[in-house]
Amino acid sequence: MSGRTSSARVLVLGGTTEGRELASACTAVPGLEVISSLAGRTSSPLLPAGEVRIGGFGGIDGLADYLRRQRIDAVVDATHPFAATMTAHAFAASAQVGVPLLVLRRPGWIEQPGDRWHRVPDLATAAELLPKLGERVFLTTGRQSIAAFAGVDACWFLSRSVEPPADPLPARLQVLLDRGPFTLAGERALLAGHRIDVLVTKDSGGSTAKLDAARELGLPVVLVDRPPVPSGADVAPTVEAALQWLRRGSAVACTPG
Ligand code: NAP
Repeated sequence: MSGRTSSARVLVLGGTTEGRELASACTAVPGLEVISSLAGRTSSPLLPAGEVRIGGFGGIDGLADYLRRQRIDAVVDATHPFAATMTAHAFAASAQVGVPLLVLRRPGWIEQPGDRWHRVPDLATAAELLPKLGERVFLTTGRQSIAAFAGVDACWFLSRSVEPPADPLPARLQVLLDRGPFTLAGERALLAGHRIDVLVTKDSGGSTAKLDAARELGLPVVLVDRPPVPSGADVAPTVEAALQWLRRGSAVACTPG
């Protein structure tokens, strides 16, 4: 950051719980101005505290222009671990403009005794593997990922997403529209009630309710590995650590709220 004594302007790339928590904490810090950015994918997004802008920037150059025009002093990429394009753009644009960037990335999940996990590198491999593991599948990979399972006719799918998925879709699909947080009791009841054989999830990290429920019921889980963070990027695992990074780089007295 610039180290100047006037307000420091922070751009938080959000769309996650951590993005909202960081924005909220930043608004409580004197001398720190926060602007949150959302992609605009959901029709009724949970809005962070403070200023919010919505919509893409127009690639790396568009984001670089935005950083210059808005006189941004620091960027925190708090997007979802699978929003790899946005993260790559943030890394390139911040380097272009000379603005410090922190990637706030919650840790991935860690396998526990009793888990029956199958780690796969991508959605296509998950789709290939599924018929060998069971017929009734609970898909929690997000609505944009459901198309990857469109050709898997051997399986029946229950998908859960905030917004309805778009074509192409699996032939045998029941759509459940819901937004977390989800509880262990709720996940257990959902898996049992739909007689689910196998759970599919991205390694998003965060709440383990669905994984705990799958373990209790002895169900296999197909876990899609997360894409890597750009090499050389500063990474913080928690909102608290991101606040500390902001405090280290700025003149403001940043107190976690
Ligand atoms: P993505 O594939 O990495 O990004 C595609 C494009 O969407 C980016 O190049 C950018 O457009 C725009 N974009 C993405 N995030 C943005 C943001 N926070 N503010 C402004 N523009 C943004 O992203 P995605 O996977 O579709 O995710 C979109 C949003 O949903 C992210 O904010 C992410 O945190 C949230 N989300 C994603 C997932 C997931 O599984 N991928 C899950 C939960 C929430 P331009 O190139 O035009 O700038």
